[in-house]
Amino acid sequence: MIQVKGIKKSFHETEVLKNISFDVKKGEVVVIIGPSGSGKSTLLRMINFLEMPDEGDVIIDNKQIHFDRKSKKHKNDADICSLRADASMVFQNFNLFEHKTALGNVIEGPTIVRKMKKDQATQRAMELFKKVGLEGKENQYPHELSGGQKQRVAIARALAMQPKVILFDEPTSALDPELVGEVLAVMKQLAEEGMTMIIVTHEMGFAKEVGDTVIFMDGGYIVESGPPKQLFEQPKSERLQQFLSRYS
Ligand code: ADP
Ligand code: MG
Repeated sequence: MIQVKGIKKSFHETEVLKNISFDVKKGEVVVIIGPSGSGKSTLLRMINFLEMPDEGDVIIDNKQIHFDRKSKKHKNDADICSLRADASMVFQNFNLFEHKTALGNVIEGPTIVRKMKKDQATQRAMELFKKVGLEGKENQYPHELSGGQKQRVAIARALAMQPKVILFDEPTSALDPELVGEVLAVMKQLAEEGMTMIIVTHEMGFAKEVGDTVIFMDGGYIVESGPPKQLFEQPKSERLQQFLSRYS
């Protein structure tokens, strides 16, 4: 479903992603862990083209975009828009439109980007509110919702785009501890339904339980990757052993 090949990215003179490659299969849940500053967010932003790689390839569902420092071919690429709609992002700080209701947030993408009729988008949004446990909250504004509710609106908004993959960047890091569970429960349900997801998180219990593959990043590299059992129970590198020891 997704292939990332040889991605490199520098900010100013600093290389923050150094030749990153990995694949995600349809229906797979890939969890990315690693210390702060290791390049996790930058990597997710490349898959959603919020930021452009300097080099490498991003392939989503057989549509490929090649990045190359010299040719800068990608600059005016209409393909980027279409691929961007295939990968919805859920952010740590929700990124909801504050002046729109929960419903307004969810139907924005489908009506503007997907050109769906408002009635149809609204009907679909109502089903999504039910799915994320927010029935009856459709007309609330973000400031009237808890963090956990806001993040579930953001998940409904991501789903409304009918993406091929959802990218989560630390979706529970900004939440009060008692609200983390309700968001993880929705994500777990999506995983069980076969949604393809790439999740950056520090919730190690969730990573173990829900992840099919775990990727450990450090210093702009993928240091180790594999099934959660292998990474958590038999970490090979000293860096991963050290990182995990902070969570036990
Ligand atoms: P993580 O999400 O793993 O904490 P990030 O991907 O946010 O890491 O950041 C990786 C490195 O890239 C950090 O050193 C960060 O300061 C740097 N960085 C990220 N975005 C930018 C940017 N827009 N401009 C300059 N440096 C950046
Ligand atoms: Mg980050």
